[in-house]
Amino acid sequence: MNQQGILVVISGFSGAGKGTLMRALMEKYDKYALSVSATTRQPRAGEVDGREYFFVSQEHFKSMVENEALIEYAQYVDNYYGTPKDYVEKQRSAGKDVILEIEIQGALKIKKKFPDTLLLFITPPNAKELKRRLVSRGTESPDVIEARLKRAAEEAVGIEAYDYIIINDNIDDCVEELHHLIQAQHSKTSNRLDFINEVRNELNQL
Ligand code: 5GP
Repeated sequence: MNQQGILVVISGFSGAGKGTLMRALMEKYDKYALSVSATTRQPRAGEVDGREYFFVSQEHFKSMVENEALIEYAQYVDNYYGTPKDYVEKQRSAGKDVILEIEIQGALKIKKKFPDTLLLFITPPNAKELKRRLVSRGTESPDVIEARLKRAAEEAVGIEAYDYIIINDNIDDCVEELHHLIQAQHSKTSNRLDFINEVRNELNQL
């Protein structure tokens, strides 16, 4: 029986290295689909509309919310971010595991709507390294870096809501850890109810 893909939420402090990790995971395994969010934030240098994000106006974002085109959305440091519903549903039906790289408010909303979602939290080895990565990335102004570090401190309070924490000090190790955790989630009894019922029926007919 073709198992429906599972939902995986990946969160982590700004500067934790999630973007690099996601790219490496997608390159190595073709069984995953990375959801592309809509956002009202301005593109950074090198970001392409439809690849990193769908960059939309405030009005457009509002209409997506009103038309229930998003499965969740949240505000993060002055901008809105949301997950388009269509893509997620199509990819899951096609058997792909769909990865949502979203912040904590969205993660909690998704878990409430879809209790079998796997929630993973990525962190650098320590706070100093986080600041170093944010500064050396050079894509944000000092004000925004400060706001993002403040937000990281707030998000750190909610880490226990996640199923697993992954410490990102080596990309290759991290990719493998992510892959194994996601694959293990497929074997959870709550994700195999159809199979369990099938076996039960077969046993009853023996
Ligand atoms: P950035 O501006 O650095 O690309 O993203 C800022 C934060 O927004 C990150 O924590 C990222 O994971 C989160 N984010 C990106 N897309 C979404 C989304 O669709 N929904 C929610 N709730 N958060 C998102």
